[in-house]
Amino acid sequence: MKKYKNKLWIIPIVTAILFGATLIFTNFSSRTTNYKPYVSFLEDTSNKKIANVYIGDSSKITIKLKDGKTYQTDNPRTDNFKEDLLKQNINVSEDLPVNLVTLIPSLGLIASIAVLIFMGVKTSAKKSKKAMSVESMEALVAEDSDYTFEDIAGNEEAKESVQDIVDFLKNPEKYSSYGARMPRGVILYGEPGTGKTLLAKAVASEANVPFYAVSGSDFIQVYVGVGASRIRQLFKKARESSNGKAVIFIDEIDAIGKRRDGAKSTGGSDERDQTLNALLTEMSGFKDSQGIVVMAATNRLDMLDPALLRPGRFDRHIEIMLPDRCAREKIIKLHLANKPVGNIDICELAQKTSYFSGAKIENLMNEAAILACKADSKLIEKEHVDKAFSIILAGYEKKNRSYIEDIDKKITAYHEAGHAIVSMKVLPNEKISKITIIPSTKGAGGYTLSIPEDRMYQNKRYLKNRIMVLLGGRAAEEIIFGEEFITTGAHSDLKQSTKIAINMITQYGMGDTLGLLNVDEISNLNLNQDDVLGECKEFVDSIYSDVKKLLILNKDKLEKLSNMLLEKETLNSEDIVL
Ligand code: ADP
Ligand code: ZN
Repeated sequence: MKKYKNKLWIIPIVTAILFGATLIFTNFSSRTTNYKPYVSFLEDTSNKKIANVYIGDSSKITIKLKDGKTYQTDNPRTDNFKEDLLKQNINVSEDLPVNLVTLIPSLGLIASIAVLIFMGVKTSAKKSKKAMSVESMEALVAEDSDYTFEDIAGNEEAKESVQDIVDFLKNPEKYSSYGARMPRGVILYGEPGTGKTLLAKAVASEANVPFYAVSGSDFIQVYVGVGASRIRQLFKKARESSNGKAVIFIDEIDAIGKRRDGAKSTGGSDERDQTLNALLTEMSGFKDSQGIVVMAATNRLDMLDPALLRPGRFDRHIEIMLPDRCAREKIIKLHLANKPVGNIDICELAQKTSYFSGAKIENLMNEAAILACKADSKLIEKEHVDKAFSIILAGYEKKNRSYIEDIDKKITAYHEAGHAIVSMKVLPNEKISKITIIPSTKGAGGYTLSIPEDRMYQNKRYLKNRIMVLLGGRAAEEIIFGEEFITTGAHSDLKQSTKIAINMITQYGMGDTLGLLNVDEISNLNLNQDDVLGECKEFVDSIYSDVKKLLILNKDKLEKLSNMLLEKETLNSEDIVL
């Protein structure tokens, strides 16, 4: 930070303190030493010692003797006081004597304060000027990013969709000679960590133009008007860059471009509106042959203000999806390329990481590298990756496990075994990769990991089976320990199963009360919520009784698995043979 670079402001502060101190000191000393009672003053008058008397409006008058000494005495406030004195040939003045001893420090103090104020105004003016400018936004750098499309694994469609933007940036005249207008704005949308920033950087470096990155939230937490002014300066800066070509990347565009809800727009969000309008104005101001492309990222396209999405603005929308298995394999390879890798089955790892984002995979490989390094292992081995995998999914294992009561351990073991047995029975294709009764720092008492299949659609049967697996933990508790001894351990299972059941009945047209109707679309009509709720409850209750039947039928397996768990605490897929 360069905040304290300018130290000149110390000087006026020091002088102000010095002058102030002298002033107080002289005032103080003159008060205490030079007071005499009125009687002594009368004596001095009759002895003709007095040269001058200063009468003011205050309660004290000041007397100057012929020998130069001064003192103060009480103001008698009689009507002809002045006349009496004049008759005795004493000089009387009604202004206070100018006392150099107090005058100089007073003037000095005033001057110092004036200088301080002047300096303050100047620096705050400088500061606010700085806050208005883009320079102060740390995120903004014309990065010479050397990412290329090679650095992005998978996302082939997205890369394809931005390829012509690269072409256009390289050769805008060619497009305009065909009368083609390039998209001015591109919105990349999709889950966090899927590589949106990466793609925008790659476009800039493939086209060899500067890359300006900002985040939507940078424009919001500032004073009114500054957001809009920052937008204008950002575009100005981009236009001034090498032959006017640039990629401007706005992360979290929803922070400025969130959908305005009619009524709410009147108050509060003025600042955001100004910023958004500035952005739209700048974008409509592009000439067609100009080489500036704005790329913006958001997690959700439907949250954005339609004004942003209109033709001529952000009119190209590219979805960036979670990587599929093949893409995951590529991403794993990419992030292992710079690491010493031992015997790791990348194919298996790609299978295990379904629903991982690119960022999560990167995180996994990094965590594995850290574990290998901590263990002083020469290479990153499977055990490190496995351990990293559990860390990413469930948080670090709690190291101090001695406090766990045996009975709690037993409950967890039966609960997890319940999930696992039901899962093996109803979802045999989802391989269970790990069961543990070691609590994690994320709060779970234990957990069962199964590898979901990569499927585009989930059918009714599958969703029902998922609910069954979720209810398996509670059902096992009830069967083994009795109805009175069910625990809070099923809390998050029940939350998840409730969510699935409600969605099935109200969103996916899989229930009876609403049939094929979607609850959101009929919310204005008089919907009888009790009926829907009743159906949800009946649905889950009947699944629960199925689960209990299933577990009672397989009670021997349940016992065997939970005993194995109590013994070993953690079981991997190869240990689970029943
Ligand atoms: P987003 O902007 O979508 O949130 P980022 O572009 O910031 O995601 O991605 C974060 C990190 O995740 C990247 O720096 C990269 O290491 C990794 N990553 C994400 N997607 C991919 C991918 N498709 N290929 C390679 N690495 C990826
Ligand atoms: Zn559970």
